[in-house]
Amino acid sequence: MASAGPKSTQYLIEQARRVASASLGLLFPPRCVVCGRVGALLCTECIAAFASIPKPCCPVCGEPQIHTGLCPKCREQRRAFDSIQSAFLFTGGIRKAIHAFKYQRQRDLAQPLVSAMMRVLPDPHRENILVCSVPLHPRREKERGYNQATLLAGELARAWGLPLAASDTLQRTRETESQVGLDFPTRQANVGDAFWGNQAVVGGRSILLVDDVCTTGATLHACAVALREAGAVHIQAVTLARAT
Ligand SMILES: [Zn+2]
Ligand SMILES: [Zn+2]
Repeated sequence: MASAGPKSTQYLIEQARRVASASLGLLFPPRCVVCGRVGALLCTECIAAFASIPKPCCPVCGEPQIHTGLCPKCREQRRAFDSIQSAFLFTGGIRKAIHAFKYQRQRDLAQPLVSAMMRVLPDPHRENILVCSVPLHPRREKERGYNQATLLAGELARAWGLPLAASDTLQRTRETESQVGLDFPTRQANVGDAFWGNQAVVGGRSILLVDDVCTTGATLHACAVALREAGAVHIQAVTLARAT
C-alpha cells in the first residue's frame, strides 16, 4: 500500500498502547518532563515558556539571521527542499522535553509536542501532499524501539487530516555517524547518499517532511535529494525545534 490512512493497523496499535498508557496514568499520575509538576507529561506553563525562533529567518532554510532574504548558505548552494520551518528554538524546556522524548522512552510526548508545534507553524501547503518522516537506520530504530520523527509525523498527519506515508517510503540506506559536533560540510558529506525514496509513492507529490530537530539542515537536504530523485515536486520540511 502506498500510504496508510488514519485507521491503519499502525494507528490502531498506537491507540491501544495509548489507552493502556492512560490506564497506567490513573495509578501513576504523569509528571511534567520539564519541571516535574504532577498532572501532565508536559504542563501548560512549560509549553508557554518554549523559546520562539528569532526573526527574520531565511525563507528557504529557516536559519535566524540579521537581514531578510536568503542566508549565505542558501545563496551559495541551491537546497533540495523548498523550505524548513521550525516551531521552537532548541534550548531550555523544549530541549529537555525532546531529550525525554528521544532517550527516556517518553513516546506519549508526541501528542502534546505536536499540539504545541501546530500553534506556532502555519497551515501546510496541502495539494497532493504526503506526510513523511526522516528515517532512522533500522538498527538504531530497533535499539530505541521507535522513531521519534515518525511519531511526530503520525500526530501531525492526524491533526492536520493529511495522508501519512508508509514507513518504507523514505529509507535510510546506510548508517551514518552521529551529526553532533560536526560542521555543515562534514554533516553534508556524512549524510550524502544515505537515503532512498520510493518513486511509486512520492512521484509527482508534495512532501511534508518531519523531523524533531534541525541543526544545519544537512539531513533534511539529503532526504530531499532522495525524494527529488524519486520524483517529488515540492518538499516542505517542518521540525519541532531548531538548534543554532
Ligand atoms: Zn512543566
Ligand atoms: Zn538559508
